[in-house]
Amino acid sequence: MKKLLTFLLCIVISIFFISAINPPVRPIRILVITGGHDFKADQFNQMLASLGRNITYNVAELPGAYDMFLPENRSKFDVLVFYHMWQTITDEQAKVFTDCIREGKPVVALHHSICAFDDWPEYFNIIGGKYFHKPATVHGKEYAACSYIHDLHFKVRIVDPENPVTKGLKDFELFDETYKGYYIEDGVTPLLTTDEPSSTPVIGWTKKYGKARIVTLQSGHDAATFENPNFRKLLKQAIEWVYNGKD
Ligand SMILES: [Zn+2]
Repeated sequence: MKKLLTFLLCIVISIFFISAINPPVRPIRILVITGGHDFKADQFNQMLASLGRNITYNVAELPGAYDMFLPENRSKFDVLVFYHMWQTITDEQAKVFTDCIREGKPVVALHHSICAFDDWPEYFNIIGGKYFHKPATVHGKEYAACSYIHDLHFKVRIVDPENPVTKGLKDFELFDETYKGYYIEDGVTPLLTTDEPSSTPVIGWTKKYGKARIVTLQSGHDAATFENPNFRKLLKQAIEWVYNGKD
């Protein structure tokens, strides 16, 4: 009996020390920013729920979501996922938005979030890209209006299989919408490319904005992509990589 009690005591002490050395990992709390574009919310949320127990999510719709960028709300989430196509922003909202990210809140920007904020160039600097609804000039260079095509099968090529965002992924196929002619900031690190002629060749990249890591992925229009296991892995690894870069 005494031996048993000693044994049990040892187990309890071991568990105490192991948990003290390795505290339970808190999930990465993502805040998905939506608004300004319809999407299939059920399938989109299924994709978010499939990312595993280490990633939890909430959704906030613009313009109300601007409040989440305020200093008092920034501790409520770890990573921003942009899936909005919002256009209007006041100077005050723009300052809070940029401060939040510049000071270290990381971003994964998906699909039509590249088309947001036509009249707010600092947004192009945050995500490192911009789809133009009408001809535009960025950093002195003129761009024609961009174009899009829905429901195309095309091949996605992994630029660097050692990049943490694409690690473990091989070239894969998507059935998705392409965008052509969008601006990509000089100096981004390309993640994904495609030979599909209706698309700009680089369709995924990483960069930094202030202290924050940023990943931008052009794909993600519809359920076929939300359900694609390669895209899910890409999204998960993008969220983990931007989160792990926090100062
Ligand atoms: Zn779309």
